[in-house]
Amino acid sequence: MAAESELQKNLKRLTWQGENCLSCVYFHPNDVLNADILERGPCTHPKLKPFDLIVSGRDWCNLYKEMPQNTIEALQEHASNE
Ligand code: SF4
Repeated sequence: MAAESELQKNLKRLTWQGENCLSCVYFHPNDVLNADILERGPCTHPKLKPFDLIVSGRDWCNLYKEMPQNTIEALQEHASNE
């Protein structure tokens, strides 16, 4: 069996972060319809709001709370009607 290449070793260390701002109920992306991990917007968590944080979809913190799918759909429906 061939030795594992450096690239293969590095790829094994890559993990995808699941609980990030993009799927957090407190994230308000500027573009709701096209939001991805690079999208930016304010964090509205009551403890963080005083700091006027602008976060991106790939950021995260320990105050994360998952946004329910029906909320995502309602936000997208509202945005598409504007
Ligand atoms: S900074 Fe924390 S609370 Fe704010 S949107 Fe991101 S995960 Fe949610």
